[in-house]
Amino acid sequence: MEKRTSLRLLMLEDDPLDAELEITALEEAGFDCQWTRVETRAAFLAELDAPQYDVILADFNLPSFDGLTALRLFLDRRLDFPFILVSGNLGEETAIESLKAGATDYVLKSRLSRLGLAVQRALREKAGERQQREAEEDRRRLSSAVNQVAEAVVITDLDGRILYLNPAFEKMTGYTRAEAVGTVAPVLERQDQTAAAGADGVRSAVSMGRTWHGRLVNLRKDGMSYTADTTVGPVRDEHGTIVNYVAVQRDVTNELRMEAQYRQAQKMEAMGRLAGGVAHDFNNLLTAIVGYTQLLLDRIPPDSDLRRDLVQIDGACERATTLVRSLLTFSRRDPSRPEVLDLNAVVNNVAGLLRRVIGEDVELISQIGSDVAAVRADPGQIEQLLMNLSVNARDAMPGGGRLVIQTEAVTLDADQVPKGMDLVPGCYARLSVSDTGVGMEEQVLGHLFEPFFTTKPAGEGTGLGLSIVYGIVKRHNGYITVESRPRKGTTFRIYLPVVAGHDAPTATPITPALGGASRGGQEMILLVEDEAPVRMLVQRALEGAGYRVLPAADASAAIDAFRAHAQEIVLLVTDVVMPDTNGPALFEALTKDCPSLKVLFLSGYAGEIVRGRGVMQDAPFLQKPFKLADLSRRVREILDK
Ligand code: ADP
Ligand code: MG
Repeated sequence: MEKRTSLRLLMLEDDPLDAELEITALEEAGFDCQWTRVETRAAFLAELDAPQYDVILADFNLPSFDGLTALRLFLDRRLDFPFILVSGNLGEETAIESLKAGATDYVLKSRLSRLGLAVQRALREKAGERQQREAEEDRRRLSSAVNQVAEAVVITDLDGRILYLNPAFEKMTGYTRAEAVGTVAPVLERQDQTAAAGADGVRSAVSMGRTWHGRLVNLRKDGMSYTADTTVGPVRDEHGTIVNYVAVQRDVTNELRMEAQYRQAQKMEAMGRLAGGVAHDFNNLLTAIVGYTQLLLDRIPPDSDLRRDLVQIDGACERATTLVRSLLTFSRRDPSRPEVLDLNAVVNNVAGLLRRVIGEDVELISQIGSDVAAVRADPGQIEQLLMNLSVNARDAMPGGGRLVIQTEAVTLDADQVPKGMDLVPGCYARLSVSDTGVGMEEQVLGHLFEPFFTTKPAGEGTGLGLSIVYGIVKRHNGYITVESRPRKGTTFRIYLPVVAGHDAPTATPITPALGGASRGGQEMILLVEDEAPVRMLVQRALEGAGYRVLPAADASAAIDAFRAHAQEIVLLVTDVVMPDTNGPALFEALTKDCPSLKVLFLSGYAGEIVRGRGVMQDAPFLQKPFKLADLSRRVREILDK
């Protein structure tokens, strides 16, 4: 049986008989009708106000009303269903006029057999229009979404030529729509060696009808490269034939940079811990070697042959000490002595030394900024930083060139902080070191700051220079950037936060106090040190200066010794980090009974690890390895205070 369609009818018809004939005609054509019949304008309008109809059938001539007026009222309300005029005697002209006015169709009462078809067609057309309108709306919604998303969207033909691109694409690549349309999409074009493989992969995947997803490196209009998370897929027509490709790209350059930076920071942290640990143990060994050598030197006559050999050992120890210091600086465990400092003065101070280091072929230019505010920094470390950067610059300019050291005041607003830089907006002193040397390839730039990364021949580079620079900058809460291209030279920029409310003071470079002979004494000293060679050495040195020394290898021995001699002991000389205790805790315990007890801490660690604990903050501290002369001088100073 044929499927019947239900139909809700609004009939504007004064003749009930005609209405019935029309219904019959529709029922015969397969409709199940529900209808409302109205005769007057008022009744018609009332129905239009809450229309629940699929179609209107309107008579042309009514006693108090007419079909064309009804049509106009209907159209005014922008109702979305067919309006069919049904009339006894509609002339050709009137009929056309009514269609022009917007009627969907007209049917003569003498030919009601046509009515069913007319309604069917009208409904079909309306449905079609509605679909088209919805499709258009979809398209409009889609296009405004595509125009506004952050992802770049590109549609190409089968050759990869761009047909469409959205504003995000323009922003991401720097190319305008006019420049890009008609050219081959960068995702499908070989741009460089690395991109070529990617582009081939994309092409073969999409031409076989598959969607490709991955990361591509492309070039922006300005020549910079960017990395994009990319999805490329085929677009098919209704027959399933591939007619276009569509690519969606998200720029992840910045994300990758941040990730890399984070990984880098973590790696440096781990290496720092490692280096710090090694340096600590090594310092204990060095302390013993340096110390015993010193003791021997003191006992050997000046003209002895043995003395020459010992001086060699002593010199080697000094170099080893410097190396360990470098490791500690990198690992941020070297005690730093930050002070309010004028960068310009530091630059001026080291300029002379730098000139000697870089040799005659390289011209040194210092450009000193006039309004560079003071920073809180350790002058020795800033000097070391400048030295390391300058040495690298010299190595990069074997045939001579120009080394420019510049200081500037820079204020960074929130929106000025360069992309990918985790700098707090604010005032900075910027120290730049530029050279006109060989520059660096991308892959060197990626590893620059890693300890032991070097491109120099064995024996020439240690790979520690820049990792030390990095460590110094980090511990000053600063930031370092590098800009370099092969053969185009290199610029390192270091941002150091300025100290609020300080004009630049004059710098005081650290010049190590020269060790002179110092007085000894007869006081009693409690010495706590777990490393036997170091303990014995310190004991001998202090006893040599006349002191009475009670050595202890651990906390309980120390406490026993202290109980036995509480009245006589005036000074505690103790290691900081020991297996069963730590120096500060021991000192605290002892001062409970004897508040006047003085202390000198010794450590191969130092810096942040042991500082920060209350008692250590301002306590006298001697970094291992130390010279015996320094030890006895510090001891005397403390006792005399
Ligand atoms: P080293 O100088 O011992 O090799 P660094 O940590 O100081 O170790 O530097 C690491 C590497 O970075 C160098 O080997 C070199 O390849 C590169 N480099 C550093 N500074 C520059 C520069 N100014 N110009 C070119 N390359 C540099
Ligand atoms: Mg170097």
